[in-house]
Amino acid sequence: MYFDSKGDILYKESGVDSVKNLCHRCLNDDKTLFYEFHSPLHQKKVKYCLNCIGIGRSDSVTPLIATESASRREECGYKLHFELTEIQKAASRKVVEAVREKENLLLHAVTGAGKTEIIFEGIKYARENGLNVAVVSPRIDVVKELHLRLSGAFRKARIDLMFAGVKVKFEHHFTVCTVHQLYNFTDHFDCIIVDEFDAFPLAGDTHLQGAVRKSLTARGSIIIMTATPTRKMLKLAGGNVFQIARRYHGHDLAIPEIHYANVRKAMEKGRLDAKLERLLDGIMTHGRKVLVFFPEIKMMHEVHGLMGDFDGVEAVYSGDAARYVKVQRMREGDIRILLTTTILERGVTFRDLDVIVVHTEYFPADTLIQICGRVGRKPQDPTGNVHFLTLYNTHHIRAAIRKIKAFNSGRTVL
Ligand SMILES: [Zn+2]
Repeated sequence: MYFDSKGDILYKESGVDSVKNLCHRCLNDDKTLFYEFHSPLHQKKVKYCLNCIGIGRSDSVTPLIATESASRREECGYKLHFELTEIQKAASRKVVEAVREKENLLLHAVTGAGKTEIIFEGIKYARENGLNVAVVSPRIDVVKELHLRLSGAFRKARIDLMFAGVKVKFEHHFTVCTVHQLYNFTDHFDCIIVDEFDAFPLAGDTHLQGAVRKSLTARGSIIIMTATPTRKMLKLAGGNVFQIARRYHGHDLAIPEIHYANVRKAMEKGRLDAKLERLLDGIMTHGRKVLVFFPEIKMMHEVHGLMGDFDGVEAVYSGDAARYVKVQRMREGDIRILLTTTILERGVTFRDLDVIVVHTEYFPADTLIQICGRVGRKPQDPTGNVHFLTLYNTHHIRAAIRKIKAFNSGRTVL
């Protein structure tokens, strides 16, 4: 069933049991994750759940209304604008098999492996057999990108879209949403596909993993798509793993080049680090574009201020209201050097792109692997260059390079 105020089932008299400290919607029973206040309207104390507040308030005075889950078969054709490679076809068959056999599956795919297209056939199989499907991600930008790609391919399907603030609802047979939105469902989806599983706000956030399990039917399957599998994910998948090591155009991931440099020290002296300047010069001379990653906003802005000799430089950060405009200007070539602090728009691809990471010693290995996946994503430009500027080599840098080499040779390394 799913919680919906228009439903006809009184699931619970109230969303929160204030005596037991239990939220019936998200099953939170951590008493530190409730907040109580005196409500003049109800003339009494009202307790609400902080764990699932992101999808609207579940409290001790509002009944939890639900709608019974239904299943409906649906013709669910899709259009692909290119033919899948052999490895993609094999992965696609594996997904269909997992859906049909009701097994969990870990799809270990390097960023840029065309993994969205790999799930199309599995979704089609599920919908034509009346199974309810959810495609979810912890990240809102990934959810938006998934919805665009899926609604572009499945033209006739009615796809529900749910993330903070946005709700397009039909009957929840085919839903694209953030993992948080799964709190709205109990025993409803026969197949949940999780993209960027590794992007859970806290790696292994148990509440969110609970949301996935709670919304899944007793014999449903979970399909995890990730570039950086962990032992926990392998366990969840019951050891059922399919790896797509090569990217869809068949080229390897770029192996980062390490340069020892102290960008901060030069910056504090009011200068742009000579190595960074030389790299940027080279990239500009070759008519390419570059994403420059910084470990912190302040450093990014200060270095930006020292780059007056270069044309087309902009800086973007996660809270920047103009970030989408800047990404578009980068795509059009108006901006050629884009400074950034976060893993910018995982779904976004640029042509002729190189990447520089400043003070790489601050970055964790998984982030570095995601960053390396940014380059060379277009078949026309299969080999970008990745430069790590660092004070010293770290365990994380070594681990990232080891894993990238493993991807290229087709091994799964944890
Ligand atoms: Zn809750």
